[in-house]
Amino acid sequence: MTARVLVVDDIEANVKLLQARLMAEYFEVLTAANGPEALEICRAGKCDIVLLDVMMPGMDGYEVCRELKASPATVHLPVIMVTALDQPSDKLMGLEAGADDFLTKPVNDLALTTRVKSLARLKMVTDELHMRVSTGRELGFEDLAPRHVDLSRNDPGKILVVDDRASSYERIVRTLGQVHEVVVITNPQEALFRVAEENFDLVIISLGIDEFDALRLCSQMRSLDRTRMIPLLLVTQEGDDAALIRAIDLGVNDYISRPVEPNELTARVRTQIRRKRLNDELRASVQTTMEMAVKDPLTGLNNRRYFDTHTQNLLNKASVAGKPLSLIIIDIDHFKLVNDTYGHQAGDDVLIGFAERIKKTVRSKDLACRFGGEEFIIAMPDTDSELAYVVADRMRREIAEHPFVIDGGAQQIAVTISAGIASLEGSEDTIETMLKRADEALYMAKRNGRNQVISDAA
Ligand code: GH3
Ligand code: MG
Ligand code: MG
Repeated sequence: MTARVLVVDDIEANVKLLQARLMAEYFEVLTAANGPEALEICRAGKCDIVLLDVMMPGMDGYEVCRELKASPATVHLPVIMVTALDQPSDKLMGLEAGADDFLTKPVNDLALTTRVKSLARLKMVTDELHMRVSTGRELGFEDLAPRHVDLSRNDPGKILVVDDRASSYERIVRTLGQVHEVVVITNPQEALFRVAEENFDLVIISLGIDEFDALRLCSQMRSLDRTRMIPLLLVTQEGDDAALIRAIDLGVNDYISRPVEPNELTARVRTQIRRKRLNDELRASVQTTMEMAVKDPLTGLNNRRYFDTHTQNLLNKASVAGKPLSLIIIDIDHFKLVNDTYGHQAGDDVLIGFAERIKKTVRSKDLACRFGGEEFIIAMPDTDSELAYVVADRMRREIAEHPFVIDGGAQQIAVTISAGIASLEGSEDTIETMLKRADEALYMAKRNGRNQVISDAA
């Protein structure tokens, strides 16, 4: 994973030290020597994470952090305070200022990379949501911005603790039980089930569960759709470094080491719950207001209007990052014949069934739309022409091999599809030119006999 990290410190040697370590982990690094300079870089949207020294002449780190968290443009930018002091009260002061995490000088390498990686991942999720909100705004939905979430509030949440040692979980329950609803489960498989069924705000997993690989549970939680977005906080022991690195790569949001310090636990839990609330809020406002209005009523896929706007955003993002982007246009073969043979209603049912199969095929970052009539389009970020071909051809084969069952099983309708692919070629390329190439490829597929996929690169 790569992210742009801004290192802010008034002492140049400190900047150089952190810069070297982060660059060794392939992060892009920007630097600033004081608060105002840092604010300018952040406001211009040039970085994904800020490492902020607390003690700086003029404007100190707390003040910079408060400013960042007070502005809607930078509130989502993760901030890690770097402090020379190792007092729980200083850590708390940073978290009160809205900081997302803190590191103590001298900075431990493992702590540095795990915290930065975990926050980089969080930023990606939030950016994705924001991009969707901004698409909504361009489409004319004004009030999609999340209502203001008060970051200083200590909202009670529902927390699941997965731990099999009474002495350990009792300590956690004692600390968190005053504010939050805490459920303890000693069996990890049962934990997964409960999290999928109920609405938890945070799951705390002990790395030291007997006869069970806690990392497996983390990985299972990250792969299920129902549990993918729930914050995970790991409780680690001294010497768990290797497991911790794997956990962060699996998508664990944060960790706390034993012996668990009550103030730190309270602060970390509060940060995770706030973030979840903020993201839930964003997601809910995007879903309810916008998605209904830009969806095709028959299939529930996004419509052309949404496609035009959102794909432009995907293209901008791909260009800036130098990443690939592919479009697949799919057209059902001889669809007119389906209507003529089985009736218009049956035709509609085939379109609905086809859309369902598309939804099952695409990843969450892909954008699938009904382009019009019996024509569909999928925009796939981070996907080159070869991969797009594999996806399209797998879909083509699946459709050809499995007829649509309609009328409650009374009728089976076999159809085939043709598809054309276009991939982003260079800075001159636009959505229009890509669509034109995909359309030409589709036309070729039709002319060559249908039931096939053609790529513009071919
Ligand atoms: P080709 O293989 O060349 O694509 O042939 P085709 O028959 O699929 O293409 P054509 O563009 O000639 O016809 C498309 C048909 O799709 C005509 C139209 O009635 C039908 N169609 C478009 N929208 C809908 C719809 O919402 N419901 C139903 N049932 N049919 C639709
Ligand atoms: Mg057609
Ligand atoms: Mg057709």
